[in-house]
Amino acid sequence: MTVDIKIGDIVRLRKKHPCGSYEWEVVRVGADIGLKCLKCQRRVLLGRAVFARRLKSVVSQGGQDFSLRESGAG
Ligand SMILES: [Zn+2]
Repeated sequence: MTVDIKIGDIVRLRKKHPCGSYEWEVVRVGADIGLKCLKCQRRVLLGRAVFARRLKSVVSQGGQDFSLRESGAG
């Protein structure tokens, strides 16, 4: 699955962060995907393949709410 994401998008991952949050803001898009935890503000870098595997859904994109749109078959 390819994921079309942009900086500023909000995504939900399958595995929760130790702080308890599932939601992350995209802060970098390149060879790696940079994510910032919405709860504790910690930043991580994930390879695109790893990111695609961990991604559960895109919560919002370009300021629009896509919370009803599930991506991937689970
Ligand atoms: Zn966190």
